[in-house]
Amino acid sequence: RPTRKVEKVTEEIRALTRAMVETMHAAPGVGLAANQVGSPWRLLVIDLTVGDEPSHLNVLLNPEIKALEGSQVGEEGCLSFPDVTLDIERAFRVEVAAMDLDGKPVEISGEGLLARALLHEIEHLDGETCLRNVSPLKRELVKRQIRKRMKAGDWVAAAAT
Ligand code: ZN
Repeated sequence: RPTRKVEKVTEEIRALTRAMVETMHAAPGVGLAANQVGSPWRLLVIDLTVGDEPSHLNVLLNPEIKALEGSQVGEEGCLSFPDVTLDIERAFRVEVAAMDLDGKPVEISGEGLLARALLHEIEHLDGETCLRNVSPLKRELVKRQIRKRMKAGDWVAAAAT
């Protein structure tokens, strides 16, 4: 589902952020959107170092894409679809405006993997997933694979790892 704008940084938002960072690092993953963990807020966390470099953690509230440049094709995974990787075309560079945990406006630009992660997570916040970027045939194949694993009782277990 699309998310709601964070109007004020409350203790609830701070606690949510801490829990999301923990979940992302434990997965392990490089990014997580709040609606992936059942929260309604427009909030994402990204850490390309998966916890190795605390200064590389990005927490963005209300992120909006301001500019896109170039293109790149690369393999992408998603914590919402364990074990599924897809070749997805994204912009090579992106500029994003957002708010930080102090309630201050911030701008971040990313290239390569950081651009990919930003676009992937913002897509989640818009209520979409990376599956919208692949062909209908590929999308159907992935959905069939997921249904098969759900039937086999393998999906919930896989999602927890
Ligand atoms: Zn994802």
